[in-house]
Amino acid sequence: MDSIEESWRELEKACLGCEKCGLHETRTKVVFGKGSREAKIMLVGEAPGESEDREGLPFVGRAGKLLDLYMGYVDLSLENVYIANILKCRPPKNRDPEEAEKDSCIDYLRLQTKLIAPKIIVCLGRIAAMRIIKPEFKITAEHGAWFKKGDIWMTAIYHPSALLRDPPKKAEALADFKEVRKKAAELGIL
Ligand code: URA
Repeated sequence: MDSIEESWRELEKACLGCEKCGLHETRTKVVFGKGSREAKIMLVGEAPGESEDREGLPFVGRAGKLLDLYMGYVDLSLENVYIANILKCRPPKNRDPEEAEKDSCIDYLRLQTKLIAPKIIVCLGRIAAMRIIKPEFKITAEHGAWFKKGDIWMTAIYHPSALLRDPPKKAEALADFKEVRKKAAELGIL
């Protein structure tokens, strides 16, 4: 086993046994991530919901089905994207993640990001954007804008759950996905 594979194995094992915050008491399954570990694009959501908690995979519920659709429109798939969340365990009743929970969990995402070394990170929704891009991120005003941190281009798109609640936002979300595709082409990664 090469050292990257070994690092993934250790990280996933640590995450699956994590008891760093109280969410381990109520979770069914830890939701580590899915997609290609060779991807140059990472999508980061907020936290698992009910279906994700049951299946142990991110974005498999209603929001996930919508995300699949948008990814499909711009030729993104689990073969060229890796998907994870800020929190690896479901907050009860899908409440917003608490600061202490995000603080406990963020190192798993940092290590995943280090191993993948993406060129683009797409934050799905406000919570991910506030943690990854900047604390004062305003999703309505700043979705689709690009930020560069070190070697990584970052942007945020409306969370698919927000699109389910507010369908008129769908046109903007599609335009943002198209920009992700365009940026990936410019960077020569797709
Ligand atoms: N919402 C998220 O932010 N992540 C998931 O995995 C599912 C729903």
